[in-house]
Amino acid sequence: SLYVTVIQGTEEIRDRNRLFIFRDRTEEMERELLQEEMIAQVSHEFRTPLTPILGYSEILRSKELPPDKLKSYSATIHHEAVRLSRLVDDFLDLQRMESGRQPYYLVPLDLREMVSQTVEEWRHNGNHHSILLKLPEEPVIALADADRMRQVLDNLISNAVKYSPDGSEVHISAALEGGAIRIDIADNGLGIPEKDKEKVFRKFYRVENNDRKKIPGSGLGLPIAKEIVEGHSGQITFVSRHYGGSIFTVWLPVYTPPSTAGAVLLIGKE
Ligand code: ADP
Repeated sequence: SLYVTVIQGTEEIRDRNRLFIFRDRTEEMERELLQEEMIAQVSHEFRTPLTPILGYSEILRSKELPPDKLKSYSATIHHEAVRLSRLVDDFLDLQRMESGRQPYYLVPLDLREMVSQTVEEWRHNGNHHSILLKLPEEPVIALADADRMRQVLDNLISNAVKYSPDGSEVHISAALEGGAIRIDIADNGLGIPEKDKEKVFRKFYRVENNDRKKIPGSGLGLPIAKEIVEGHSGQITFVSRHYGGSIFTVWLPVYTPPSTAGAVLLIGKE
């Protein structure tokens, strides 16, 4: 006699003398494939800055160079090394967050302060944009990790600045809307083509267009921002039109302090 039992993806076929066990490896194989794809992508991303570092350092090592070349080659090496180090930091950050090994230190935070501080710094960091800020009168308090939330804002403002022309305006605002906090970062830049919209939050994904070929980046800024915002029970959304600018919006729950009315009542009774 021959019979087949299927228990949670494991298939056994028995006959009188032998036992065959078949295991469904589809999920495992898919995971392995994803892992391989990821490793290929990561090595490619890391190799990009490494290539000029190796090339130019080899020239510096083996040739007598005039001072101007010496200066320019070592500047390139430094620039690419900075890029590589940023890439490693971002990548490790994201890995830690995704695996849940990155704790969030949540405290009630008035986001108006954090947003205005961040904007103030962006106004003085040498970019050529007008960064305009609009904040409400009332406090905008979220339970948030200050450093991580700062990272979200930095990534979104950095994109708004990178992907829009010098001299243009970047509008940043925070508000309470429908019981939630919304922070908008709006630019008048290149926008995101329709076909790329669903992919921009993927790790290492960069829009491949002539209009942004020379703009540096790792494709990790948005996935990091999304991971952090979702780690705060929030959401990140955007509207964008190719060559018509973009608005990225961070939504966060409003923090309501636990009521102390009960405690006051008890003390009153004592
Ligand atoms: P990158 O390091 O490439 O900026 P991100 O993950 O931050 O990586 O963004 C992914 C891609 O989405 C970018 O390569 C860019 O083409 C597009 N993008 C992100 N923000 C904007 C924006 N404000 N305007 C236009 N394109 C944007």
